Amino acid sequence: STPKPRAAEPASRRPSVGVQIGKVTVGGGAPIVVQSMTNTDTEDPVATAKQIAELARAGSELVRITVNTPAAAAAVPRIAERLAMMGVEVPIIGDFHYNGHQLLEQEPACAEALAKYRINPGNVGFGKKKDAQFGAIIEKAIQYGKPVRIGANWGSLDQAMVATLMDENHTRAEPWDAGHVAREALIRSALDSAVLAERIGLPRERIILSCKVSGVQELIAVYRDIAARCDYALHLGLTEAGMGSKGITASSAALAVLLQEGIGDTIRISLTPEPGASRTGEVIVAQELLQTMGLRSFTPLVTACPGCGRTTSEFFQELAKTVQEHVREQMPLWRVKYDGVENLTLAVMGCVVNGPGESKHANIGISLPGNGEAPAAPVFIDGEKAMTLRGEHIASEFVGILDDYVAR
Ligand code: SF4
Repeated sequence: STPKPRAAEPASRRPSVGVQIGKVTVGGGAPIVVQSMTNTDTEDPVATAKQIAELARAGSELVRITVNTPAAAAAVPRIAERLAMMGVEVPIIGDFHYNGHQLLEQEPACAEALAKYRINPGNVGFGKKKDAQFGAIIEKAIQYGKPVRIGANWGSLDQAMVATLMDENHTRAEPWDAGHVAREALIRSALDSAVLAERIGLPRERIILSCKVSGVQELIAVYRDIAARCDYALHLGLTEAGMGSKGITASSAALAVLLQEGIGDTIRISLTPEPGASRTGEVIVAQELLQTMGLRSFTPLVTACPGCGRTTSEFFQELAKTVQEHVREQMPLWRVKYDGVENLTLAVMGCVVNGPGESKHANIGISLPGNGEAPAAPVFIDGEKAMTLRGEHIASEFVGILDDYVAR
């Protein structure tokens, strides 16, 4: 007999050292953490706290803010106070470049209020100053008991490291190409900085690494390499992914390959929002990426067909949108009231071709009448046809059936 094809499964997670960031654990076998970053001016504590709260409510489990000026550093404890007053508990990460050693020294309340520091080893000073300035930030992390992400970035490579590797390259029988040199510079910059941090006294349990690149294939190559060379927890993200569908596609393509291979302990989808648009879109994409890959569950997923010439009107698309938005709006309450609600699956289908079949695979599914079909919409609950909806109020009736099912 022919063996049945088995569903693909992600590889076992790469073993990594767990890092505690407030109440959130990254690595060490903990669920992959979703994180995001604000784009408000940190000097404005009202706007920044508001956006952090929005990101946290959308599902961001860690939120990073830039800390770039003395006024921004001074605002950090005020942001933390506002969040506490709003009942928002999310750990806040300070993103430092160039002057982090000075800001953490000048603003002890900022050093205390942050749950983690992010340092870019390519932007921490140059020449002899570099190790001293990097060391000063690590000393602060030790003093305040904070973890650190050493986040190397393709856009700000440590130029001294690049020069060293170029020199080494001349001695190779088969010299590396420029891309290989740059990838190695990125990885070695992160790894050497981590070794230095440990030598200064920061425990491995407080170090996370990242090596962000803007190209999909480069990112996959870099992370496969660094994952094999250390057991530090890894933060994944395609940097400068871009706007809209391009950013979502590129980030998902790169991260899905790595996540499928068991690489990655926390992810950020870096999307450029449309002007004036909410920052929360990148959180939803990160959650949906993890959930559609079967790595975590956040919210009931809605399966919907694309529609075609058999659908009679846009009513079907409107119903799919209504159901998706209703689920997102209700989730904060549902999550508190109903255990496991995030694992439900829903189907909204345009006609009988695939509608009943797809509906039977879902916890609740509806199949709307297509062209030439009887004006009836069968609803399936737990694989069985439960009722048929008709008339103008199909959408509100289906949402009511969904609410009843969740409550049961
Ligand atoms: Fe078209 Fe029906 Fe398939 Fe939807 S389920 S894509 S309406 S044939």
